[in-house]
Amino acid sequence: MKKIVKFGGSSLASSEQFKKVGTIIRSDQSRRYVVPSAPGKRFANDTKITDMLYRCYEQAVNGKDFETALSAIAKRYQEIIDGLSLKLSLKKEFDAIRDNFKKKAGRDYAASRGEYLNGIVLAAYLDFSFVDSADVIRFHEDGTFDPVLTNQLLKDRLSAVEYAVVPGFYGATKDGKIVTFSRGGSDVTGSLVALAIEADLYENWTDVSGFLIADPRIVSNPKCIETITYKELRELSYMGASVLHEDAIFPVRKAGIPINIKNTNAPEDPGTLIVEGTCKKPKYTITGIAGTDGFVSINIEKAMMNSEIGFCRKVLQVFEDYNISIEHTPSGIDTMTIFVHKDEFEEHEQQVISGIHKAVNPDHIELEPDLALIAIVGRGMRATRGTAGRIFSALAHAHINVKMIDQGSSELNIIVGVRHDDFENAIKALYDIFVLTQI
Ligand code: ASP
Repeated sequence: MKKIVKFGGSSLASSEQFKKVGTIIRSDQSRRYVVPSAPGKRFANDTKITDMLYRCYEQAVNGKDFETALSAIAKRYQEIIDGLSLKLSLKKEFDAIRDNFKKKAGRDYAASRGEYLNGIVLAAYLDFSFVDSADVIRFHEDGTFDPVLTNQLLKDRLSAVEYAVVPGFYGATKDGKIVTFSRGGSDVTGSLVALAIEADLYENWTDVSGFLIADPRIVSNPKCIETITYKELRELSYMGASVLHEDAIFPVRKAGIPINIKNTNAPEDPGTLIVEGTCKKPKYTITGIAGTDGFVSINIEKAMMNSEIGFCRKVLQVFEDYNISIEHTPSGIDTMTIFVHKDEFEEHEQQVISGIHKAVNPDHIELEPDLALIAIVGRGMRATRGTAGRIFSALAHAHINVKMIDQGSSELNIIVGVRHDDFENAIKALYDIFVLTQI
């Protein structure tokens, strides 16, 4: 059994957190490859090391004195080193960082040092080998990621080391220029290492006990999702639920490696298992509820629209011309509705309306702002009768008017559109009916 374990920033924010991580890793010998993030927030108003590095680098490139900012970063690491009673000095590393900042080595280089230094500290604490991601995670010259070479480099390198720390978030081009993934990218590194070593499991340790069925800012104390498929996760994260970096899914999914989201502060909790497929019956009919606010609908009416060949294409072309992405297009016989993101649409609103008039000469166009979309996702829906009925009766009981309905052909999700003012109540009503009353 081989496991790869990735620890997020809050799991490694202080020496106390490092100790928890050490206990978790040492308690299971199959936890052989460790991917750390940079130290994150220790308390609500704290600053992540990554953000401190971005700021410090900005001062450096603007010709300002950045010594105070750099010392604050060094202090954070020194506190961890002292708290762990390690005999380790990062002086050489910080001298190199100072020089490279003066030489304007790049924002990505700056940010990557958070994971790089944390990797060095963690490897020393665990007595694992340190593998610099600049040597094994490869980017093309244009900054795009090279999955093929990365997989080869990781395989070659890690086959020779039994226990290693590989810092998350960054890699390098063949000439050694450091490139990072987007924010939260250590999840991606974890996934790449899991793929390369053909891991049995990718454990992703964070500060929550897995994915929650609904947003805790809306529903109080929502339950955790025990098992979720990659497809369900994609639906939920598209709608705004996020714990894991999107790009972390593809490499492991392809290889059939499950991901277990675990809580460093409650390691005995089972967390959420993300799998390609499962026969396990889900506990509730629905797996999760997620939603996003900030949509506008454009309702277009024209008599005999249904017989006008090319009508939809001409309308959609107008949106494409202004680079506006379309979320949903529910339609009736003589009506077509387009859901778009308000912030993308607003800027070109009048041009789009006149473009539609020119393209299809409609009888009437109406805009409806302040809409929200809610996705009710669950593989259990396929085998359960009456899910849609329960959704709509729950919303009706909560006096919520449904503006739009869309059931994906996979029967994995139902999306409903509601007014912004009804958004939170709709989510609460759905959680109540599917989870609290357990129908
Ligand atoms: N430290 C980076 C960030 O704050 C990457 C990560 O934590 O995954 O985004």
